[in-house]
Amino acid sequence: MISLKEAMKLSESELVALRKDLKDKIKQTKELGAYIEQLTNSEICDEFAGVPIAIKDNIQVKNQSVTSCSKILQGYIAPYNATVINKLLSAGLAPFGRTNMDEFAMGSTTESSYYGKTLNPLDHSRVPGGSSGGSAAAVAAGIAVAALGSDTGGSIRQPAAFCGCVGFKPTYGRVSRFGLGAYSSSLDQIGPITRSVEDAAILYDIIAGHDPKDSTSANLEAISTSDKLNSDRKMTIAVIKNYVDGASEDVKKSLNMAIDKLKSAGHNIIYKDFSNSKYAIAAYYIIATAEASTNLSRYDGVRYGRRAACTNLGSMYANTRGEGFGAEVQRRMLLGTFVLSSGYYDAYYIKAQKARAFIKKEYEEILSEADIILMPVAPSVAYKFGELSNPLDAYLSDIYTIGVNLAGLPAITVPVAKDANGLNISAQLIGGAYKEQNVLDAAYSLEKLIKGN
Ligand code: GLN
Repeated sequence: MISLKEAMKLSESELVALRKDLKDKIKQTKELGAYIEQLTNSEICDEFAGVPIAIKDNIQVKNQSVTSCSKILQGYIAPYNATVINKLLSAGLAPFGRTNMDEFAMGSTTESSYYGKTLNPLDHSRVPGGSSGGSAAAVAAGIAVAALGSDTGGSIRQPAAFCGCVGFKPTYGRVSRFGLGAYSSSLDQIGPITRSVEDAAILYDIIAGHDPKDSTSANLEAISTSDKLNSDRKMTIAVIKNYVDGASEDVKKSLNMAIDKLKSAGHNIIYKDFSNSKYAIAAYYIIATAEASTNLSRYDGVRYGRRAACTNLGSMYANTRGEGFGAEVQRRMLLGTFVLSSGYYDAYYIKAQKARAFIKKEYEEILSEADIILMPVAPSVAYKFGELSNPLDAYLSDIYTIGVNLAGLPAITVPVAKDANGLNISAQLIGGAYKEQNVLDAAYSLEKLIKGN
């Protein structure tokens, strides 16, 4: 599959041919379930001219279905474009197909989608990761030039790592969330999933920038990164030793190999430990579920999507929400409502906010001594289907990605090795707030070292 960089140079007729070729390939790889149109047998949205970009099903494209892969949003048509979609269109790119995801982006495997599962292109008996599993599988399988995902606690970085592509979560506030289906508003961020660091930088440059329609969007000038990508800058990289040592043997071995390469290329490697791991999972699952419980209260059968059969107002709410939300989403709304309730607010929600401040400080302290933090993305390679069916196991598997969202920092995952079964292992590189250039330059350097050029 052509790179985004090359695709952006194609003529209109070449782009028509590219889109046709993609559609044919998508049909041939239907069993992957990367695009949900394939699962529902409707057509890929192809009414826009431009370089085709796969879009996670929680980003609105005007006049198209958008469902966050939930039953409750069946029948909902987006009334306007998300800001990122308008930005794609003005740059000569176009939304192409909707990709599969965990329902409302809650999950790490894409197994909670209303439409069914997505297969990992590297091994069909394994999950593609999640929640942006469809976007990552499409890019890795060569049935998308590039894709957009969203990352609340790792949902861009982890599926990219499980499928063997690059996933980039920008600083919180860098990319507008206007038109993104909200999961946890203080953590959500849209970002690119691509086959190379350069393509990630190109797509990031297109979607980044202040948006008056999103009050949490950073009022800063977006500085382009792709034209300044530099793999020769020597950086100080802080390796989080207790996190590397805590991962599986294969992950540990692969990261240590990558660290050796970075060291021999002249980067300054220092070692640090994180003490926040004890609190990160708890703080994340309190804050994310609290915010989700309020964000998802709007799906009541009145305004959006599907309404269940009912006899009065009360049964309309109860039946619509009871039938429309899957088990994991219901579990999280219950938990979120509980931690926000007056009797428990101080004990849980306020404590979680304090832990969040502590975690952020720990990242900032390390980043005052280093340009980049390096750590694993996930404790292991991609899971077998069903392996993560216990919700607590699933929550614990997010240990390496969620702190970055709590701290609001930019982070990228870059493939560094394959295990004996051909499954991908990536490294995660994290930078200071708004220092996307550092993250991309370090990733570009690592990618070149791994590819040997
Ligand atoms: N796995 C995490 C969760 O379930 C992260 C999901 C995400 O980033 N959207 O909340």
